[in-house]
Amino acid sequence: MAIATVNPATGETLQTFDALDADGIEERLARAEEAFRSYRTTSFEERGELLRNAAGLLEAGQDGIARTMTTEMGKPLAAARAEAAKCAKAMRWYAGHAEELLADEVPDPGDVKDAGATRAYVRYRPLGTVLAVMPWNFPLWQVIRFAAPALMAGNTCLLKHASNVPQTALYVEDLLRRAGFPEGCFQTLLVGSGAIEDILRDRRVAAATLTGSEPAGRSVASIAGDEIKKTVLELGGSDPYIVLPSADLDAAVRTAVTARVQNNGQSCIAAKRFIVHTDVYDEFAVRFTERMAGLTVGDPMEETTDVGPLSSEQGRSDLEELVDDAVRRGAAALCGGKRPEKLTAGWFYEPTVLAGITPEMRIHREEAFGPVATLYRVNDLDEAITTANDTSFGLSSNAWTRDEAEQERLIRDIEAGGLFFNGMTASHPALPFGGIKRSGYGRELAGHGIREFCNATTVWYG
Ligand code: NDP
Repeated sequence: MAIATVNPATGETLQTFDALDADGIEERLARAEEAFRSYRTTSFEERGELLRNAAGLLEAGQDGIARTMTTEMGKPLAAARAEAAKCAKAMRWYAGHAEELLADEVPDPGDVKDAGATRAYVRYRPLGTVLAVMPWNFPLWQVIRFAAPALMAGNTCLLKHASNVPQTALYVEDLLRRAGFPEGCFQTLLVGSGAIEDILRDRRVAAATLTGSEPAGRSVASIAGDEIKKTVLELGGSDPYIVLPSADLDAAVRTAVTARVQNNGQSCIAAKRFIVHTDVYDEFAVRFTERMAGLTVGDPMEETTDVGPLSSEQGRSDLEELVDDAVRRGAAALCGGKRPEKLTAGWFYEPTVLAGITPEMRIHREEAFGPVATLYRVNDLDEAITTANDTSFGLSSNAWTRDEAEQERLIRDIEAGGLFFNGMTASHPALPFGGIKRSGYGRELAGHGIREFCNATTVWYG
């Protein structure tokens, strides 16, 4: 895949970039190692100050980077601005909390004595240089979500960003340099995915984190496994959105639309499968379809646009294939199911609601990465849970019910890394984020996220 900025709203190639050659990669690996030697000895206070500087600079230039993101991958401008603001918030959060999250862990005095020690504790130390392979869908957030905790823990970072967001990738490197991070602490590698194996196998890379598709995750995890290096994987999702009779239906319908079409439908934690109790199914289906059909699809730079283009031509044809397969096998398109007639340039697709989904349809098993919702009618809570779990994914989940017994049942039985009641899944720096099953492993954000790339060192005194 060429490293280039191609505007998905027009299909126009705006700028191409040369990939780094072997010497360029070597130079950056050496710089990362060199930087780690001294950066690891800095205090939380020093790191926090640098990260707060970065947050301030990001906020000051928020509109510019938001426009770059929208130009490179097509998200509505307002969403791009919100993404930049969220990144600044996460940087401040980690700047303020890292020390406490990584404080020495002291066992119970009785256990210390039992271990034959006069004193013992766990100290969280940095691991070294962490390689991040990141996707284009939240091109700033995915990077900061990894980089803020990694830098606060004392690690140095190498970013291999998706090939369609090079300007955003270079922006992050520049932002952190301007904030005062020493040379080599955070470097962007403009390389294709073919260069990853050698980089990951290099002894100067300690660990890797990847957000993206299952094949990319499998490849990186296999190489890292072969090298005995730690990985965190955040892969796809096909999150269920369960609506039960006690739901506030108005709110459930409104939120369902946002949960599905956020980021033009290209979010791993977007609700994708709408599993609705038969008592409220008909009303939900009518109202949800009406709202989905009423969304404004168009130029993502326009403030009135709800849904912009898909990020690539390939992304749109993958989505089209899923919808066409479902319709061929008997699904009903309650709205959408095609490209918008008036938008011929760029990679647009109409918000779509599909009903009558059956297990043999590909969309039942695969992630629909675009504004396409599938509807399932269920007769009771048991069937809702069985349907929700009938997927290889396990990222997050949503359930609308005010019944506490139903909530407890869902907490016990839903197979996912998150469960959001009466709302939609969203990430927050204080809440761990990640999945189970084929959605990946490990956690980002909160204390869990910052500890993933630390050496939890046992310290024992005789
Ligand atoms: P990819 O997984 O291909 O891309 C994500 C990142 O991984 C990019 O930086 C990409 O680089 C890199 N990459 C791809 N293949 C490899 C590899 N073998 N080794 C190392 N790095 C690799 O996602 P796509 O953009 O192709 O999207 C395909 C599907 O993946 C989507 O339809 C969606 O289902 C899922 N996806 C999920 C995301 C999520 O947030 N969980 C985000 C993006 C995609 P390069 O761009 O150079 O290929």
